Amino acid sequence: MADCLFCKIARGEIPADVVHKDATVTVFRDITPHAPVHLLVIPNQHVGSAGEIGPGNGALMAAMITAANAAADAEGVSESGYRLVFNVGRDAGMTVPHLHLHVLGGRHLAWPPG
Ligand code: AMP
Ligand code: ZN
Repeated sequence: MADCLFCKIARGEIPADVVHKDATVTVFRDITPHAPVHLLVIPNQHVGSAGEIGPGNGALMAAMITAANAAADAEGVSESGYRLVFNVGRDAGMTVPHLHLHVLGGRHLAWPPG
């Protein structure tokens, strides 16, 4: 998608603090972190949101969660714990229409969310 912000980050056309990139996913720091560790895992190819994911997307989901787990380990929060979040749509506060998995950690995270 030519005008998609996260497609541009995946293509390296917009600067981001990228901590991991491979053939399938890019992992970078959220520009407005809500926790000491706040990363975003995105597919390099455009997908609108988790609401579009179905049975054919198993390999992509595995790649995204594997990258999230590896990033959490690299950030030192594997033992203390972390939260993986997909926001879908308006009521969830989704603001960027390109699938992204939030990786949050480094402090206690309240549950249920506000
Ligand atoms: P969501 O609210 O689930 O759509 O999350 C989108 C996230 O993208 C927010 O947490 C933003 O802070 C983050 N974000 C927006 N623009 C950028 C950017 N250029 N680089 C890094 N993170 C961004
Ligand atoms: Zn995109």
